Amino acid sequence: MHNFDFVKPSTIADAVKALKAEGAQALSGGQTLVASMKQRLAAPATLVSLTGIAEMKGVCLGDGGLHVGGATPHADVAREAARHYPALAALAGGIGDPQVRNRGTLGGSIANDDPAACYPAGVLGSGATVVTDRRRIAADDFFQGLFTTALHAGEIVTSVVFPIPQAAAYEKFDQPASRFALTGVFVAKYADGVRVAVTGAGGDGVFRWTEAERALSANFSASAIAGLSVDPSGLIHDLHGTPEYRANLVKVLTARAVQAAG
Ligand SMILES: Cc1cc2nc3c(=O)[nH]c(=O)nc-3n(C[C@H](O)[C@H](O)[C@H](O)COP(=O)(O)OP(=O)(O)OC[C@H]3O[C@@H](n4cnc5c(N)ncnc54)[C@H](O)[C@@H]3O)c2cc1C
Repeated sequence: MHNFDFVKPSTIADAVKALKAEGAQALSGGQTLVASMKQRLAAPATLVSLTGIAEMKGVCLGDGGLHVGGATPHADVAREAARHYPALAALAGGIGDPQVRNRGTLGGSIANDDPAACYPAGVLGSGATVVTDRRRIAADDFFQGLFTTALHAGEIVTSVVFPIPQAAAYEKFDQPASRFALTGVFVAKYADGVRVAVTGAGGDGVFRWTEAERALSANFSASAIAGLSVDPSGLIHDLHGTPEYRANLVKVLTARAVQAAG
């Protein structure tokens, strides 16, 4: 690992200021970034820890739905969101292992935008709004491809606002070694329609299965997607599964999520 400086501000304003320095990078749970530094894939000059910023932590009801602080660890979301948004709490509670859940954060997860991560499906499937230190970004505009988001250099995810659905569920087929999603599907039913977001399968990262959304908006039951199929072209092909296997998983998991939500 390269030498680096470390600062731990206690306000968003101070973190934003610290991130303006040459080579500075935000650090949250470190579950991805520290491993990248150890492998010398990242070499920030200064790590700006966000974990001491109280205003970026916690879960509460507010304008537009459930507000989750960007520096809230997964374990806290699993516990604190359980009453108001059980599907989101279950998603957080199924991430990795206890160590990962107690360190990894919502902001770190979506800023990293791993194609097999769970939160991108929850954020996109909920039509959530990502709040940063400078603007609000709709989930549909936030995720822009593999490990790529709308965030600018030095921009911090301070919170995410999740509209609370009438019914929702996340179904994940675990990659058993890492617990990441080999494929995962988040389904959420709102008064104005159903959203279906898929992670772990798309070659460009998380995506919405719009055909299923239309069918489920007309009839929210697993039978509504029985006649649909997912085009495997563009899906991930690796040693864990072929595109055709993942395409089938998307359909199976969507049906399971609808049943679980119902
Ligand atoms: C063994 C293992 C298993 C895992 N299993 C799963 C799983 O099943 N499902 C799943 O979804 N995830 C899984 N993860 C990922 C994990 O849950 C973390 O969410 C993820 O590693 C990054 O979050 P972090 O808070 O640790 O971010 P960090 O590693 O600290 O940072 C990651 C990146 O995000 C940037 N960043 C951090 N916070 C912010 C912010 N608030 N605003 C802007 N940029 C920011 C950093 O600069 C860095 O580029 C797993 C990780 C491990 C190591």
